[in-house]
Amino acid sequence: MTECELKAQSSKLKARGGRPAATNTCRVCAPLGAVLAFRGIRGCVPLVHGSQGCATYIRRYLISHFREPMDVASTSFTESSTVFGGRSNLNEAMANIASQYRPEVVGVCTTCLAETIGEDTQGMLRDLARDASLPRALFVATPSFKGCQHRGFHDAVGAILAQTAAGGERLRQINLLAGPVSPADLRHLREVVDQLGIPTILFPDYSETLDGPSLAQYAPIPAGGVGLDQLALAGRSACTIQLGAVLEPGPGQVLAERHGVPLHQLGLPIGVAATDLVFNALAEAAGAPLPERLLAERGRLVDAYVDGHKYLAGKRVALVGDPDLVVALAGFCAEIGLMPILAASGAITGRLAEALAAVGAGGAEVLEDGDHQHIGERIEHLRPDLILGPSKSYTTSRNLSIPLVRVGFPVHDRIGAGRILHLGYRGTQRLFDEIVNTLLEHNQDESETGYAYL
Ligand code: SF4
Repeated sequence: MTECELKAQSSKLKARGGRPAATNTCRVCAPLGAVLAFRGIRGCVPLVHGSQGCATYIRRYLISHFREPMDVASTSFTESSTVFGGRSNLNEAMANIASQYRPEVVGVCTTCLAETIGEDTQGMLRDLARDASLPRALFVATPSFKGCQHRGFHDAVGAILAQTAAGGERLRQINLLAGPVSPADLRHLREVVDQLGIPTILFPDYSETLDGPSLAQYAPIPAGGVGLDQLALAGRSACTIQLGAVLEPGPGQVLAERHGVPLHQLGLPIGVAATDLVFNALAEAAGAPLPERLLAERGRLVDAYVDGHKYLAGKRVALVGDPDLVVALAGFCAEIGLMPILAASGAITGRLAEALAAVGAGGAEVLEDGDHQHIGERIEHLRPDLILGPSKSYTTSRNLSIPLVRVGFPVHDRIGAGRILHLGYRGTQRLFDEIVNTLLEHNQDESETGYAYL
């Protein structure tokens, strides 16, 4: 082993608390992120090129979170495709999808196996594009040994824009790349830009495909998503607003480099300060003031801060999840008097510490490439008053009797994960109330006498 390899291994071991393997991982695989992004395209069927188990795992994980049907096709590698390549599997899968689903587009991503054997998936799809009977395919390479769902999602968004957006005369419209947020968050962002009156390509938009109504008849491809015709116009927008603090450079860069669309990168709008930044940027792009309705929501939120701050002052919080969400939550917590003492993520960005410092939470211990066992050990050591994180943090919460407020992905032990609103003044209000009430309830439950009045 070379010196470099030894150093890399030793830093990985350090990140995992000296353990050679991850236990109860905090990261999900890259093609899952890509499948989520593909779900934000109208008429799209995601196809995972590689082992069938990977597609099953992705489906199971997404279904348990969104509680929606989730068709994810697979090229189902066998032993022989592992040795000789999966070209015939890909050809057969595309033909099957075309006849069974009749999609507008197939979103193809790769598993670790396809990447490890060096499949030229893009070249194979180029050959298939000559067959007019097949739907259009959009491709992104998603080797999970290079990154987790966070990376897979953003790489997919960049790859989709690279393959669909065209240049041309500027239009009075903007692109809004919101990141892997909840369907409720997407609906709220749509409501805000509609109120501002600015035509917006909000991408990817799985607010309907992953949180749709009950139907009498099963729809193999759910309604909703951004059409290829709309994506083609993304290169002509006046600007791109990209949400996510640790992205570097992020998918919006594709449009900046290829079509000269100015890119503005901002953190997720959680908290008054962060929401002011994003909503004011949207208002500026729209050339319109913030509507009274949004200002009223802001006013109510500030009023809630006044009412609730005394229950939060000095409390310590551990934050777990996707790095962009962790940074946004840290800024919000710092704003309301909660002290972030641990910021943990399964992703490896190398930018978490810097991004936390930029939102006023530089004092938090930073843990990247963490697994839930290691994160749990740090939480046990640091003893915060509260955990904000996914349902995977429940075991730690239960073992240590530290209350958990569920945010982000995945939330597998509750219903309504797709309807958790995190963003904007309204999402912050919901989060603030839940945090305060969770702490109050915990105090009540722990009290020997009990009380029913504050
Ligand atoms: S092998 Fe790779 S692609 Fe398949 S489930 Fe595991 S991490 Fe994901």
